[in-house]
Parts: sequence; C-alpha cells; structure tokens
Amino acid sequence: MKKTRDSRLPDLPEDTTSKEFASAMSRKLFEISCMAELGRFRSTLELPKILKSLYHKFLQIYHQYLKHKTNQLKKLGRQPTCSTGCSFCCQLMPSGISTLEIIFIYDTLREEKLFSRMYRRFLERQEILEQVRAKYRGIEAGVPRGKKLNTDIVLTDYKQKRIPCPLLIEGNACGIYSVRPIVCREYFSCSPPAWCDPAHPHHFQALTIALPLPLECQDMLDKIDAALELSLPDAFSEAFVFFSTNITRFRPIKWT
Ligand code: SF4
Ligand code: SF4
Repeated sequence: MKKTRDSRLPDLPEDTTSKEFASAMSRKLFEISCMAELGRFRSTLELPKILKSLYHKFLQIYHQYLKHKTNQLKKLGRQPTCSTGCSFCCQLMPSGISTLEIIFIYDTLREEKLFSRMYRRFLERQEILEQVRAKYRGIEAGVPRGKKLNTDIVLTDYKQKRIPCPLLIEGNACGIYSVRPIVCREYFSCSPPAWCDPAHPHHFQALTIALPLPLECQDMLDKIDAALELSLPDAFSEAFVFFSTNITRFRPIKWT
C-alpha cells in the first residue's frame, strides 16, 4: 500500500510539536535498535519483554503524532473522512512492512489464536500473487537472466483484482488492529469514503493522503531490520509466509 502525496492537499507544517513527537518515537526505536538480542533472533526466537513495551509505547506516541497531523489538516480546511468499518483501502496487498512489524503481527495472531485461519488466507493470497508474477515473467521472458520483476507492476496488477487483505475480518475490521502496519495507519482520505471504491465513478478524484512516518523514525526501523538480518520479501503475504515457514517454523516467539 505505497501511497504518494496528493498535490491537491496542503503541505503540513513541521512545527515544534511534530518534532517533539518524532524525537520521542525515534528514541523508543533507538533503544530497540541497540538490543543485542536482535542479532540472535533468527537462531533463538527470543526477544526481551522490554522490547514489547518499547514498541507499544512507540505506537502510542505514533497515534498521538497522527492525531496532531490530522488536526493540522483540519485547520487547513481538509477533514479526514475515514471511519470504522470503512475498508476499500484494505482491498489490496500492503507492501513495505518492516520486519519488526511482521514479528508483532505474527505474535499477536498466535496470542489471539487466529494464526491458523490467517496463515491459510495468507497462503491463498500468495498463490494469486504468484500467478500474477508468472504472467509478468512470461511478458518479461526476453529480459536478461537474473533481472528482478518490477514489484510495483506486480502489486498494481494484484490491486486490480480487489482481493481483501488476509487480515480483514467480519464487520470490515482489521484482525490485528492494535499492531496494524504503519502503511495502513498513515493512509487517510479527505473525500467521501465511497470514492475510495475503485468502481466508483469519482474514484480518480478521491483526495487520499499518506502522512509518512518521520524520516528519523524510518531510519531507526531500517536499522532494526538490518540488525534482525531476516531479509523478508516486500509484499505482505510473501513476507508473512516466509517468516512463518522459514524463520519461526511455526514456533512461538519467546519473550524473556
Ligand atoms: S482511506 Fe478511504 S476506504 Fe480507507 S478508511 Fe479512509 S475513507 Fe475508508
Ligand atoms: S492489515 Fe488491517 S488495516 Fe492493513 S490492510 Fe490489512 S486489514 Fe486493512
């Protein structure tokens, strides 16, 4: 779910409050990035409990940061229209989710006893994604060996199929709402929700916006991912299936 800024929306000021939230979030992620256990995770599946509380603290501050940014939007005359149960934006395959986020999604699904059901759904999406890839491999048959397929083209094609995210549950709710990915949190609409439906006649006039995570926080997340050394694929279903089958092998994460 990589979204770009809509040029019809105003630039939001980087005021003192925004900077304070960014520093507070970055400090929490920095503390996580210094943990030696990250480098051993692949072999031990162990992480310190303090990491869990630091991550949830980071998410709390991020929530406040997004509230502040949406208030800025309102002051500039744009009213976010997103609401519970609205889910046209969940009918695609999110991508670009960090390894740390995948760890918490995996752990939450296990804790909530939703893992088996959701894993099957991830596998189904994965099969469809592979079919789309196979189509482009055919088209790109003439390209030099070893050249990677363009992920954006594959994910855009997948998006046209309007397949709900595997974690979308009854009532159009997110099955892992408390740990939903940053790409899902940062995405808003300032136009009528119905316009987010690709079948709506005004879909291409929809005013959508991604309020990106401050750069310093993104850098910290990248640092944590590098320390974990798991090299997960970009697409959500592929990353989740790879993590479950090749990294954890369906075992629980141990919080010590
Ligand atoms: S982005 Fe669009 S589809 Fe998603 S919650 Fe907001 S209004 Fe609804
Ligand atoms: S993870 Fe949750 S919020 Fe994100 S696309 Fe899936 S159902 Fe929607």
